[in-house]
Amino acid sequence: MAKAATVLLAPGVWRIPLIGDFTNGFMLRDDDGQITLIDMGMAFSGAKVMAALRSVGSGPGDVTRLLLTHCHPDHAGGAARVSRETGVPVDIHSGDAEYVRDGTQPDVDRTSWIGRLFSRLPGPTNERLTIGEELADGQVVPFAGGIRVVHTPGHSPGHTSFLHEESGVLITGDAIFNVLGMRWSPRMLCSNFAMNQETAHRLGELEYRTAAFTHGPEIRDRGREAVRSFLRDKGR
Ligand SMILES: [Zn+2]
Repeated sequence: MAKAATVLLAPGVWRIPLIGDFTNGFMLRDDDGQITLIDMGMAFSGAKVMAALRSVGSGPGDVTRLLLTHCHPDHAGGAARVSRETGVPVDIHSGDAEYVRDGTQPDVDRTSWIGRLFSRLPGPTNERLTIGEELADGQVVPFAGGIRVVHTPGHSPGHTSFLHEESGVLITGDAIFNVLGMRWSPRMLCSNFAMNQETAHRLGELEYRTAAFTHGPEIRDRGREAVRSFLRDKGR
């Protein structure tokens, strides 16, 4: 059985380290025991997500929603197994829906030589996923006091960040990395790097205490200030 580790971010909100702290998923539990999972890592990480679920005393039957920040294989790859074992389809922003439905990937930014090179190679493919709901900007998913969908396109066309207002936890997704300090996602992984930098500024305008990243450890309590100072220093 895959080893399960979870990091408690707030009551009922956990980070699931899937490849150390380098790649994370998240788990939220409602008062009535329902579970929402956000991002499920690479294909091989699906087992770890299921183990994390059991480690907090819940099971596949408690999962009622699967949310994805975006379609890339290190976020959506593990969703195939989790979706199969829970019987729950995935919810993703409409801008990325076609990719998870078809198991394909959006083009990468061609303003870098490596992007031009990558765009000529066959892209990584995911197992095709069944979509439950296509998410839209500003929508509040009715779960655990509400999870707000914040469209932050650029890393991918439908990339979203998620704000859980009740616990004060923001899940940035790949809009901002926190690997050896806060930084932008590499240009070669973005569909539009300039747009990523521009839309990430939305994250400085929201209210939260903890900034949680899909890549890297969270910043507790002063999360909003840390994001704002990053945007001030590194934003265009
Ligand atoms: Zn990504």
